[in-house]
Amino acid sequence: MRRLVRACFSGSAGYSYAKSADDVAREHGIDRVARLASNENPCPPSPAAVEAAANALRTANRYPDTRATALVEALRRYHGDYRFVTGVGMDGVIETVIRTVVEPGEAVVVSTPTFSFYGLAAAAHGARVVNVPRREDFSVDTGGFVEACRGAKLAFLCSPNNPTGNSVPLGAVEEILEGIEGLLFLDNAYVDFSDIDYRPLMRRHENLVLGRTMSKIFALAGLRVGYAFVPEWLEPFYHRAATPFALNSVSLAAAAGALADPDRVRETCDHVRQWRERFLEEIPYETFPSDANFVMIDVSPLTGGEAVERLAAKGVLVRSCTSFPGLGDHYIRVSIGEDWENVRFLEAINNL
Ligand SMILES: *Cc1c(COP(=O)(O)O)cnc(C)c1O
Repeated sequence: MRRLVRACFSGSAGYSYAKSADDVAREHGIDRVARLASNENPCPPSPAAVEAAANALRTANRYPDTRATALVEALRRYHGDYRFVTGVGMDGVIETVIRTVVEPGEAVVVSTPTFSFYGLAAAAHGARVVNVPRREDFSVDTGGFVEACRGAKLAFLCSPNNPTGNSVPLGAVEEILEGIEGLLFLDNAYVDFSDIDYRPLMRRHENLVLGRTMSKIFALAGLRVGYAFVPEWLEPFYHRAATPFALNSVSLAAAAGALADPDRVRETCDHVRQWRERFLEEIPYETFPSDANFVMIDVSPLTGGEAVERLAAKGVLVRSCTSFPGLGDHYIRVSIGEDWENVRFLEAINNL
């Protein structure tokens, strides 16, 4: 019956997940594994989020609010007066935006190497994925990118970029927005850890979507909440394309609760910035400047896979970058975790 499966799923491996911490613990006989493979927040969610989620459980007999009113209000309090849409993680937002604007067979442009899900989601939708490589230093050739976007309705750009860590300057993004006819989805999953604020661009351009997630700085990865700043014209059509009741009421409540606790955000940010500097100083391999809560490392002459195995044997789980389209096989990506995790990682990488 396998012949029934579509070619985009039978012919490729799909999303590549990091190894599970439990598997690493079992394989190497280690109690506590440093989990630095998925760019999560190592701290538990804000108590305000936990309390809101617990309260929402009491009314779980009802379907959730499809317009996410309470979350959108919390987003307006946090960010100011913008238009927002929500989804099951930013991944859910990405899928819905693709569904809203792209017909099967049309081109979707992706600046690579980057997060693989843009291409996977576009391919699953039947779109034609056009990868546009960054320069050797991982900066974006804006002219080349604009050129590749000719005729395309949707393009993806990630800043700060996963896994390279660098940001695209505001001026370069603006050049792209002015040069393309379609929509730019700018993935800002890690923007809270940088010094760049792309939000003002929403006031000047109606072809920009800013993707955000509650999974990283807001520590809610397990609850799957994403959202986006959208231009006014897109909002009603996004709602038509979205899966009904996709985002559950417990997650919605938790996200609104987390947004009401900005002190937590500042603490996380300070922690990440301090450790990021130490990582760049103490890692004995070539590293790349990062505006995110992770650092990419060139582990040559080792391959990414070899480095991941050796670090796992020392109780540290990191991510090999081999599965990122357009990147070589000698990079790893390490997230900034709790103090003990970071200390263990630095010791391990210095004794590889
Ligand atoms: C983690 C991540 C996301 C997805 O986040 P979810 O909201 O958990 O789906 C999106 N983009 C990038 C670049 C990420 O690293």
